[in-house]
Amino acid sequence: MLNASNIFTLLKSAEQLLKSNNIPEPETDAEVLLADVLNVKRGQLPLIRTNPVSPDSFNKYKNYISKRITRRPVAYILGKTEFMGLNFIVNEDVLIPRQETEILVEEVLSRIKINKYSEILDMCTGSGCIAVSAAKYANVYVTASDISLKATVVAKKNAEINNVSDRINFITGDMFFNIPAKKFDIIVSNPPYIAEKEFNKLEKELSFEPRKALVADEDGLFFYRRIAQNSKKYLNQNGLIIVELNATIAELITEIFSAAGYKKIKILNDFSGLKRVLVTKNG
Ligand code: GLN
Repeated sequence: MLNASNIFTLLKSAEQLLKSNNIPEPETDAEVLLADVLNVKRGQLPLIRTNPVSPDSFNKYKNYISKRITRRPVAYILGKTEFMGLNFIVNEDVLIPRQETEILVEEVLSRIKINKYSEILDMCTGSGCIAVSAAKYANVYVTASDISLKATVVAKKNAEINNVSDRINFITGDMFFNIPAKKFDIIVSNPPYIAEKEFNKLEKELSFEPRKALVADEDGLFFYRRIAQNSKKYLNQNGLIIVELNATIAELITEIFSAAGYKKIKILNDFSGLKRVLVTKNG
């Protein structure tokens, strides 16, 4: 039961409720959701701990907490998240941007800087988090594609709220299908990469995300194969492919790229030491 005597009791009772329902990070989620309801920063909550709770705030918070108990991810409850220090809107048409993907974006940004690249292609853009961050932090033009029209709508909004619409060309289409016949400096992608047989073993939160943004045929390899086999004609000489990896099949993915003629392959690890990003060069 939620206790609405004041902000503090409300927060503590929500934490308890989430905990007793086995929600993985009850404290964080209770605070993030309450901060949103009260329209304050999370760090400000202790300063208003003895304040009363208005009936409107209470009802809104109660609704948020019941949604979280069903395992709906916080980002979908709030309709927004942060990525690379930027605000992104999200809904159930797009994958929620993950912290690990920031490693991929940091690599893209550092290569752009070193090589003075200007043309980027982001495949399976989803929320547009990679495309928008690249355009925001570097002076580049991005072509961003996704098979889902609904995802493209969200990605376009994200470009608008981050003021980079003029440098991103959004395309709805299946991988390379509608991509203009031109050469890019970097092809970047965080494609769907979970094998069908693995999907049901994963946490319930994932069932709220678009299945086609997560699951890939051929045991998770389908999109890596398509990128490896079709990318050369879209890449400048010395252009790069930078893709996020499914760490459990990193070796197989590396083999796919070498078989397609990509000789020098570099792998970057994530914070947990898992193989997370593959970088390779054309030529
Ligand atoms: N590019 C988006 C992201 O990194 C979406 C990825 C996807 O839908 N597989 O979050």
